[in-house]
Amino acid sequence: MPFPAVQDMVRGRFAPSPTGPLHFGSLVAAVGSFLEARRHGGEWLVRIEDVDGPRARPGAADLILRTLERYALLWDGPVLYQSQRGEIYRAALERLVGAGLAYPCTCTRRELAAYPRSRDGSPIYPGHCRNSPQPSARPPAIRLRVNDTPVSFYDAVQGSHRQCLERDIGDFVIRRADGCFAYQLAVVVDDDAQGITQVVRGSDLLDSTPRQIYLQRLLGLPLPTYAHLPVVADNTGQKLSKQTGAPPLDLEQPTAMLWAALDFLGQAPPSALWRASPKTLLAWACCQWRLEHVPIASSRPWPAAFLSGNLSSRHE
Ligand code: GLU
Ligand code: ZN
Repeated sequence: MPFPAVQDMVRGRFAPSPTGPLHFGSLVAAVGSFLEARRHGGEWLVRIEDVDGPRARPGAADLILRTLERYALLWDGPVLYQSQRGEIYRAALERLVGAGLAYPCTCTRRELAAYPRSRDGSPIYPGHCRNSPQPSARPPAIRLRVNDTPVSFYDAVQGSHRQCLERDIGDFVIRRADGCFAYQLAVVVDDDAQGITQVVRGSDLLDSTPRQIYLQRLLGLPLPTYAHLPVVADNTGQKLSKQTGAPPLDLEQPTAMLWAALDFLGQAPPSALWRASPKTLLAWACCQWRLEHVPIASSRPWPAAFLSGNLSSRHE
């Protein structure tokens, strides 16, 4: 075990998917999780979520790590790569299948298209193959049975949340038909293996949290605390992402981007630190960080200069 669980030790993590370089939205998640861990004297780990092999871009993981270093976001311990953990995910999957909690699904894309959609666009699967298993020559996906007991949790930024998996999500995929383990399973297994006590990430993942809590309970894993940070939107109101063309983080202006991330997170960084090193700015932030100052959502229009990383003109 590379990460022995330490009782009472605070441990946070940043878990980027290497589908491209980090952008301002990912920086906000990195900074928030880093400071919440460090502020409590805890460790901060990095995990590369390359479980979805086909979506990983060659070189992206290395670039992400170099960017974190350049931004003085220095992590503890070895970096965990999900692509190397197939056996561990398989063992968890086998436990769930063995206990009758998960089952093969051979439905075609066409069949799935007939079901209503959940908020993330995936079908709310009513358990067709659970009730009447279909023989098929194709490799099946594996789905987890859910039930109608609501899953409730308290989020340190977003407040109380509650979701009925059966109504809102349906039996969800934990291993895809192409053999890739699903994010929901991998994240739960890895947060446990790394001894993570607090999950701080973007609020786009708030809706995934009940599925993860449900899995943690089925697998008998300890539950971390949760804090979901506001997501960064571009000028058209869309979530900043690689898909919508978010510019990569500027390696030449780490302090300015860190300052903007702290400002976004409601931490009111002093303008005197504009020209400080990233290390100095983060040292200030470690002492001053208050999770309770993080807004639930951000209503600010983000100047294109922030998003493009071209900040020099604003602050000369
Ligand atoms: N890999 C996920 C992402 O980049 C984050 C997963 C998590 O923080 O739980 O969106
Ligand atoms: Zn099916």
